[in-house]
Amino acid sequence: RADPAVSVPDAADIAEWWPRPDHASDKYTRGVVGIATGSATYPGAALLGVSGALAGPTGMVRYAGSAHAEVVRAHPSVVAVPRFPDAGRAQAWVCGSGLGTDDDARTTLRSVLATALPVVLDADALTLLIDGKHAKDLRRDAPVVVTPHDGEFKRLAGEAPGPDRVGAALKLASWMNAIVLLKGDRTIVATPAGEVWVNPTGTSALATAGSGDVLAGLLGSLLAGGLPAERAAVAAAYAHGLAGRRAAEEGPVTAPDIAAALRHTVFDLTGQ
Ligand code: AMP
Ligand code: MG
Repeated sequence: RADPAVSVPDAADIAEWWPRPDHASDKYTRGVVGIATGSATYPGAALLGVSGALAGPTGMVRYAGSAHAEVVRAHPSVVAVPRFPDAGRAQAWVCGSGLGTDDDARTTLRSVLATALPVVLDADALTLLIDGKHAKDLRRDAPVVVTPHDGEFKRLAGEAPGPDRVGAALKLASWMNAIVLLKGDRTIVATPAGEVWVNPTGTSALATAGSGDVLAGLLGSLLAGGLPAERAAVAAAYAHGLAGRRAAEEGPVTAPDIAAALRHTVFDLTGQ
């Protein structure tokens, strides 16, 4: 197989792609992102996904799940309900981290996949897909972005990414019919059509608990803001990496630090 053409995004690409409001925008036209992550056991995953989403371009963040009370306490602008069916309209959903793998979690994932909207699947949602043997060809018209780290990749693909990470990500993207964001030192975004990007902004400061939850929330916001899914994935990884670097200038980095730094990073990248 010939080496696929690998693109490396730069700051100008991200600035060009980032959705911007205009004078006619309102909170709905800027996009509404839904977050269906976390649980009573793991409320932190919900809070981190929501913080990532709040750093994105959307006009509203909704939350559906059992961490709804914690979410509203920490983020009063979020419209939060305990159950997915009561969540209201959104233009994209993020499902997975901290959700657990019980029957409620399964029902949430099924409902999210049944929408006609772009979705981000992470963490427990990936485990549930494998348990349901649903990983092969997701058969959705709207895009799915899966965001595995190496362990999750191995479970999805049946084998570790190995040394050819670009090839492995492309193969999984084609097999699942989904966009694959393979996390790591150099995060890879691969599409079923064979396009591939390698993110240049990674930093080991991102290797901290909850970091991926912030990324998934931001990615959901970019999808809901109207970016094509592969650009949303590339832009989210790019901004997330810069936010990790920025947070690391001030001391040891935790996931809330990444979310806080993201706001400044987005401002620096986009001027808004
Ligand atoms: P998660 O494991 O889901 O919390 O996601 C970890 C996040 O940190 C992903 O965005 C990874 O790309 C990033 N990350 C982890 N380790 C490294 C590393 N050594 N260098 C750069 N980024 C990393
Ligand atoms: Mg994770």
